[in-house]
Amino acid sequence: MSEKRCILCNRPYNYHYKMFGRGCLDNLYDLLKFRKPFKILNKEKYLCTRIAWRNHKFFLNKNKKYELAKKYIALSYLNKMNYSLLDNIKEKIQNDINDISIFSKEIKSTISFTLNDIYKLYNYSRKFDDLIKGLQSVDWEKIDKEMAENFIESMSFIFDVTKKTNPISYAIFYSMQYIFWQVVVVGGILTNKPLSAKLLSNSLALFGKEPENLEINDERTIKDIKDDGVFKKQIKELTEKYGKETGKFNLKDYEKDGVLLGFEGGDLLYALHDATMFVKAQKNDNNTWNLEIEINDTYDFTDFKELKEYADRENSKFTDIFSTLLNNCGVVSSEYGVIKKYDVKIKFNLNDYVVEY
Ligand SMILES: [Zn+2]
Repeated sequence: MSEKRCILCNRPYNYHYKMFGRGCLDNLYDLLKFRKPFKILNKEKYLCTRIAWRNHKFFLNKNKKYELAKKYIALSYLNKMNYSLLDNIKEKIQNDINDISIFSKEIKSTISFTLNDIYKLYNYSRKFDDLIKGLQSVDWEKIDKEMAENFIESMSFIFDVTKKTNPISYAIFYSMQYIFWQVVVVGGILTNKPLSAKLLSNSLALFGKEPENLEINDERTIKDIKDDGVFKKQIKELTEKYGKETGKFNLKDYEKDGVLLGFEGGDLLYALHDATMFVKAQKNDNNTWNLEIEINDTYDFTDFKELKEYADRENSKFTDIFSTLLNNCGVVSSEYGVIKKYDVKIKFNLNDYVVEY
């Protein structure tokens, strides 16, 4: 005789029920809010009958009743996971349920699943909910590197590429990853890095939507760039190289793709990875410069691996985490389409700019 396994939890059982072990059947009575009867011997069959009644279906044969119950239980678990990405799937399962009648010849399964898969997904999402609640109260500025790493590692189960192949698990893992990046990274780790937070947030386009290209011109970002050592050095070199004789230059005349701007720290390093810059410059009589600056970058989270060399040098806990742990998560989320590429442009003018020689 072959061993019976519960179709919900997949554990072996040896009770007379057809589908569920006794513990799981109790849980299902709770989940569906039915009162468990005392006098009825086959409480599994009774549950399936009650489910059919709740769906206004009477006199179904046993097979239809049990198949209906499986779909309804799946739907109930999906309803407990509050992800709008599941709406379409839930609608299809509901339609399959509606089609079951005493007259229907076959039972449609527009969405195929096993209850065990649904049950495992439900448990993943509960674990995720608990962890994310804990992470919302973390002060990322104060914790040490090891703790920060442990927190992120505890979440790493949601970055599982193998869950991409099934539409239900794809929707659930997509949703969890989306929440992770919004809450933990944009709203937590990057709180004090507004440009990085803004660019990552824009990259997290809603499902099925492409992110819009961004044009940045807020005062804080422009000030950060203006004060940045790498930027200052680059402007100095360019004015010396192309502007010494003529007192003016347009970089596009010399360098078709602009010059590389590799920021070395802080918000700009996290935000812009392979940025290039164009400059149009005109010298004033008092030796200051009027500059028209255009910085372009393609936002691509998987670029973060290039932070590695900075991480070794800078010894900052987040540079390190971004270049290793979060980078790996980012690669998976890019495959899921949670994190998407787009173009960033930063344009501004600096008048009476003093080049420090
Ligand atoms: Zn079970």
